[in-house]
Amino acid sequence: MSLRDLFLNITYALFPPACLLCNSMIQSRTKEVFCPGCRERLVFIGGHICPSCGRNFPDSPSTGHVCGHCIEKPPCFSMARAALSYESLILEAIHRFKYGRNPVFGAALASFLSTVEFPDVDWKTYDLIIPVPLHIRKLRQRGFNQSLILARGLSKTHRIPVNFSLLKRRKLTLTQTGLDKKQREKNVKNAFIVRQQDRIEGKNIILVDDVYTTGATTNECARMLIRAGAGRVAVIVLASVPVVH
Ligand SMILES: [Zn+2]
Ligand SMILES: [Zn+2]
Repeated sequence: MSLRDLFLNITYALFPPACLLCNSMIQSRTKEVFCPGCRERLVFIGGHICPSCGRNFPDSPSTGHVCGHCIEKPPCFSMARAALSYESLILEAIHRFKYGRNPVFGAALASFLSTVEFPDVDWKTYDLIIPVPLHIRKLRQRGFNQSLILARGLSKTHRIPVNFSLLKRRKLTLTQTGLDKKQREKNVKNAFIVRQQDRIEGKNIILVDDVYTTGATTNECARMLIRAGAGRVAVIVLASVPVVH
């Protein structure tokens, strides 16, 4: 037994992994962060999704068609993909992660996201991972950027460098909660700025955020990155809100 395995076994014996959602013990030594019961209740995205924004159509029987939002205003990113549908269970976990200042939660969600397979994302073709930035004041208040924690998990698994200083949030925006799509777009317009354009030029970028609601924030980030010369921007999020007509 290697020293590393010995260490892992001791850690496992002392701190058996608990489910992120219900705290019950997980009877497996894999990187699983949800117990089988909770995992079953999570709504994984797949099947009927918009190929552009990646959100699922809860009521549409057909596949492969672009949603109304993406037809009306094609996004600047090449595609967005989410692991889960943003429903009560994961909503609570993300809320605890963002506002509970609990680093264990962040690490576990990052580890979960990094094991999710996104079949149409060809990781080898990307050069850089960039998290959606927080405004410095919000960062000080919260103590961490949840998107950066998720981005670091993806970076480790897919071996793509992460950079959190090339894209900056210069405008302290109002909370997006309660705003409609148009108001959200207006709210985040010109909120971001690219530093060191030469490090963005020609690069294919994975942009990471925790939640995709209307896509206003991620789209504005993608717009700035493309304007700075990025080749292609794909968005990866933990959870997205289903398409509503
Ligand atoms: Zn559980
Ligand atoms: Zn769409």
